[in-house]
Amino acid sequence: MSQSTMVVGGGPAGLQAAATLSRLGFTVTLVEKENFLGGAVARHHYQVLMPDFSSGPELLQHLVQRVEKAPQITVYTGTEVASVFESHDLFDIELTGKVHRNIQVQAVVLATGFDHFDPARDGKYGYGLFPDVITGAELEDMLAKGPIHRPSNGASPQSVAFIYCVGSRDRQVGNTYCSRVCCAVSAKQAMELRHQLPKARISMFYMDVRTYGLWEDTLYWRSQEEAGVVYVKGRIAEITEQQGHPVLKGEDTLVRGPFEWPFDLVVLAAGMEPSRGTRELAQKFQVPLESHGFIKRASPIQNGTITENHGIFVAGTASGPKAIEDSIAEGDVAGLAVFEYLKARVTL
Ligand SMILES: Cc1cc2nc3c(=O)[nH]c(=O)nc-3n(C[C@H](O)[C@H](O)[C@H](O)COP(=O)(O)OP(=O)(O)OC[C@H]3O[C@@H](n4cnc5c(N)ncnc54)[C@H](O)[C@@H]3O)c2cc1C
Ligand code: SF4
Repeated sequence: MSQSTMVVGGGPAGLQAAATLSRLGFTVTLVEKENFLGGAVARHHYQVLMPDFSSGPELLQHLVQRVEKAPQITVYTGTEVASVFESHDLFDIELTGKVHRNIQVQAVVLATGFDHFDPARDGKYGYGLFPDVITGAELEDMLAKGPIHRPSNGASPQSVAFIYCVGSRDRQVGNTYCSRVCCAVSAKQAMELRHQLPKARISMFYMDVRTYGLWEDTLYWRSQEEAGVVYVKGRIAEITEQQGHPVLKGEDTLVRGPFEWPFDLVVLAAGMEPSRGTRELAQKFQVPLESHGFIKRASPIQNGTITENHGIFVAGTASGPKAIEDSIAEGDVAGLAVFEYLKARVTL
């Protein structure tokens, strides 16, 4: 029997893992619950990617076409894992949805990704109540479909506020971790907005700016120096609405003064949470979760794609917040980890 593998989740991490496994000579079944491949990049129509302002559609085309053209990869979209039975290092996996069948594989890569934090869970932002308060993912959709407008009346906004750390680093909502990409994504979005709104006031309300590593110059400084974006160190206590405008109430923690400022449009940099699919799959494969609900890695330092269960690997945001570049890199690493694992079993 040729060695067969399964990748669950067809986002950037899963697409890369499937391509790598096929290049290494394995048969791959790629299972995606949506009717399309590409994960969050496709779902929210990311046009321009942080950190290098490259094209989202071009990246997607590259990742998806490579998988669709590979003869050793069978793709099932609109399909989910119904049940898993493991015996003698072989997984018997029942698929359901558009496809009803059982498949036996020797190794599985879980690449089931993240969900956006839903800001309606934290009443202070007025999300869902005030139409001009939107999320970063909704702004990506608006940037793709254009033009940028206030959902309440269709007008072009002349003042835009971004609020950082929504649903992240927040004990009250239960997410104590940093989502890692939202500072940089917001800076990228603010720079994109500047092209469409040359005269608008664009303000970022932050606790800390974590455009870490090489992103500091290209995003944090460039957004200020080239796009005139203003950073305000401040905690937002609440958003209210006055005369049809969202009003930010909070405290500027650098000058130690309270503020109450109206904006035309407010963008919530909502963080990442383990996706429902990640939690469900972890249960079906009986893989432990770490304390925040992401899939637990056996050793984040040695090889972050190995789980505590033999034959089960993880790639991308299913094991914690990360950017596309790291998610894709983990797809490769997971493929190599599967190779080592299966090679060792053949030579036993
Ligand atoms: C607003 C926003 C903008 C961003 N912009 C950028 C950017 O410009 N640059 C950047 O580097 N990063 C960006 N990111 C981060 C980026 O979206 C992630 O790094 C990337 O999508 C992670 O890929 P992934 O494959 O791990 O997960 P996902 O993209 O979430 O893909 C997971 C896939 O698994 C599928 N799935 C889930 N459960 C199941 C199941 N049970 N069965 C089958 N399939 C399942 C999902 O449908 C999905 O297709 C952004 C994030 C946000 C929130
Ligand atoms: S990346 Fe920035 S906005 Fe996102 S949680 Fe971390 S500090 Fe907050």
